[in-house]
Amino acid sequence: MLDKVVIANRGEIALRVQRACREMGIKTVAVHSTADNNLKHVLLADETVCIGPPPSINSYLDMPSIIAAAEVTDAVGIHPGYGFLSENADFAERVESSGFVFIGPPASAIRLMGDKVSAIRSMKAAGVPCVPGSDGPLGDDADENLRIARSIGYPIIIKASGGGGGRGMRVVHVEASLLAAIAVTKAEARAAFNNDVVYMEKFLGKPRHIEFQVLADNHGNAIHLGERDCSMQRRHQKVVEEAPAPGISEEQRSRIGDRCVRACQEIGYRSAGTFEFLYENKEFYFIEMNTRVQVEHPVTEMITGVDIVREQLRIAAGETLSVTQDQVRILGHAVECRINAEDPKTFMPCPGLITLWHAPGGPGVRVDSHVYSGYKVPPYYDSMIGKIITHGGDRDAALARMRNALTEIVIEGIKTNVPLHQEIFQHLAFQQGGTDIHYLEKRLGLV
Ligand code: ADP
Repeated sequence: MLDKVVIANRGEIALRVQRACREMGIKTVAVHSTADNNLKHVLLADETVCIGPPPSINSYLDMPSIIAAAEVTDAVGIHPGYGFLSENADFAERVESSGFVFIGPPASAIRLMGDKVSAIRSMKAAGVPCVPGSDGPLGDDADENLRIARSIGYPIIIKASGGGGGRGMRVVHVEASLLAAIAVTKAEARAAFNNDVVYMEKFLGKPRHIEFQVLADNHGNAIHLGERDCSMQRRHQKVVEEAPAPGISEEQRSRIGDRCVRACQEIGYRSAGTFEFLYENKEFYFIEMNTRVQVEHPVTEMITGVDIVREQLRIAAGETLSVTQDQVRILGHAVECRINAEDPKTFMPCPGLITLWHAPGGPGVRVDSHVYSGYKVPPYYDSMIGKIITHGGDRDAALARMRNALTEIVIEGIKTNVPLHQEIFQHLAFQQGGTDIHYLEKRLGLV
């Protein structure tokens, strides 16, 4: 097993990784910015290394500092968490060429999936269903582009191959706007991602966001852990996630899951990963792969009993997956609420001192959070301060437990989005399940 691991992240995911390490007898090194001396995992780490000032660009995104921290502490591996450098192929490569284990996929797989055109191409080759589209980058031939759009049918969406985080996309409803939209998206993509390759896809009107969790080891084993529904979003940011996805049959789960597994084998994938799909009219359409552990991984852990971070560490150490596909059982239902330090009405971040933190509890309640009474939320980073996950025998039971948890939790000193969650869990449409990705914004009157 790995002897010592650098956790190249902060907040709840750093603590999550540390918990898995400690359970496995792996020592941890917390690298942190000067704003993060009081993070829970920093206080609990075997060793700590301050890697720079608060701005992420000078600390959590500073590759040489993180690699140097691994060197001075004699660590063996580096876990990137999510966000920051987790999907940076250059970082993965530099970690490995410096002699450390990158606890994630090979750089080649990150690079392949980081480029949407190449990702879609390899998914198609593996039989994963994709959105009808241009089948590659758009060229400069205006007539040809008009023809492609006509054959797909409006509305269509122009997407930057190097895009991410909901940026680099433009919806086109009528032919008259097409060519200008392509030109603008190309120019924006060049400026934002230094890559002006764009492609075209059918724009789906009312899709749900459903994603499949996979795990693959170095010995040719790959499995899927079923799907999650993350349709409850605001500005492409997930707010509530659940597993399994309401209304998905066992047949659909194994059909799509098996395709994802096959794709992992064909691209030489390793570690944890997520295949994201839009789901409309009972059909799945691949949109992108996330080559890292995700914020919402706990809902899958709750229904399968598989510890995804532990599997990542085992895989990185060269061990085999601890479960086979036949052993994966889905038990009950789980739901997650992301708790953000923000105004529940305006969504403005609300950093500051948490004067009182009281976490909910009871059967089937899990809280993944790094905060505590007296912790000061710094203004420099993502506003998520934790996640509440509840599990029950069925969806209604999981929702009932979440409603309870949301009334039990006490957070004083800062504003949070707990009232928003309390409201969502009263919505009849949500209680029924299967709402689309536009539901929350419409319901909140934001669109
Ligand atoms: P990013 O890497 O920026 O997250 P994605 O390809 O995952 O980009 O798309 C982000 C979001 O944009 C999706 O979750 C969905 O809401 C919307 N979207 C992307 N492609 C389409 C499409 N073909 N039709 C409708 N909505 C889409």
